[in-house]
Amino acid sequence: NTGFICEYDTEITAVPATPLQITSQPVNYTGAVGSKATFTVAASGDGLTYQWYVKTANASKFSKSSITKATYSVELTAARNGNQLYCIVTDAYGNTVQTNTVTMTIASQLKITEQPKNVSVNTGEIAKFTVSASGEEYELCCNIGTPKDAVKAMEKDGEGVGLFRTEFLFMDRTSLPTEDEQFEAYKTAAVVLKGKPLIIRTLDIGGDKEIPYLGLEKEENPFMGFRAIRYCLKNRDMFKSQIKAILRASAFGDVRIMFPLITAVEELRAGKALVEEAKSDLRSSGIEFNENIPVGVMTETSASGVIADLLAKEADFFSIGTNDLTGYTMACDRGNSDVGYLYSPFQPSVLRLIKSIIENGVRAGIPVGMCGEAAANPMMIPLLMSFGLTEFSVSAVSVLKVRKNIAKWTKAEADEVAEKVMSMATEKEITEYLATVI
Ligand code: PEP
Ligand code: MG
Repeated sequence: NTGFICEYDTEITAVPATPLQITSQPVNYTGAVGSKATFTVAASGDGLTYQWYVKTANASKFSKSSITKATYSVELTAARNGNQLYCIVTDAYGNTVQTNTVTMTIASQLKITEQPKNVSVNTGEIAKFTVSASGEEYELCCNIGTPKDAVKAMEKDGEGVGLFRTEFLFMDRTSLPTEDEQFEAYKTAAVVLKGKPLIIRTLDIGGDKEIPYLGLEKEENPFMGFRAIRYCLKNRDMFKSQIKAILRASAFGDVRIMFPLITAVEELRAGKALVEEAKSDLRSSGIEFNENIPVGVMTETSASGVIADLLAKEADFFSIGTNDLTGYTMACDRGNSDVGYLYSPFQPSVLRLIKSIIENGVRAGIPVGMCGEAAANPMMIPLLMSFGLTEFSVSAVSVLKVRKNIAKWTKAEADEVAEKVMSMATEKEITEYLATVI
């Protein structure tokens, strides 16, 4: 010991904090008993060690480990119903960096009480199970994106498919699907449906749906631009090969064709002309298809709503796409939070269009369905029943809920509600009133 005291300068280097990411996080998890709420945690870059653990509200820890990336699932049990589940991430010193919380809830089990017990049908007819309290029958179909979804639609008791979004067949790959590949997908769905209706929507790309290998040019106004039927009519070979694939699948079920984003009668005529060309190609190759395949219009633009009477003369059916119809009618991008308050199918303008589309279809004697999200909204259901909608197309998980909601209303009650709603001037008034009657 020399008694010499030496001081060292200690340099502290600031480590830039790399944001820790917790992804795939359900804000609230609702599922069946036995299903799992999952946390995926990813940390990267700053060289620090993170720890994470998951615990429930009663403080029992399930897991603790060092991470750069990790996934942890917690099974939903009756005991965990309503419980909060925390994912806590700490740095190497035990300081909490981030906490995320999920409330786990068991999805309520629907009890169907208003089903007819016996349904009498002739051979070859389809029994109807979606019936109002006063006996009107409806068709309750599902929206799907892949043939696999068709299986789910049937498991959930869907009565057909009201919208097959075919763009999913074109995504996540590097080149166009061939006619044969498409045929296999459409045929698989038709076979799964065993004769129940299958409405296949032709390719709807552009807008918010991008397919990189098509090399679409960036547009200033993609929703107003080169999208859906507009793109397809300019890319005839691609369009014809899709139509041929759909026609070939029509030999295996009740397949129907639907064109998206129609705004003018010429577009419907041009699409139908291409269907006739495709039929003639198949005929000369001796390939089987349904000569009388119905060709319908997706009414999802304000223009199609305003000319619904003209379109109804040349279309075999309508299906109302409220997701786009609301945006186009309100001139409002639902992704923009500054104007999102305008995006509601309960705006009087949107409701008037919906009513007019349905009435024009009914007048022309063609079926009218709805495949936009609004079809599953309990507040919209009595209005659609009153206006004369005959088919609802919703996600598979909504089938039982929508069926139950339809069964709640008599036609007379629905008419009374609709009459009141259509005399109201604002969305607020309408939704506040509807909330009191459902
Ligand atoms: C719609 O616009 O309502 C619709 C069902 O089509 P998508 O959501 O695929 O645009
Ligand atoms: Mg749409």
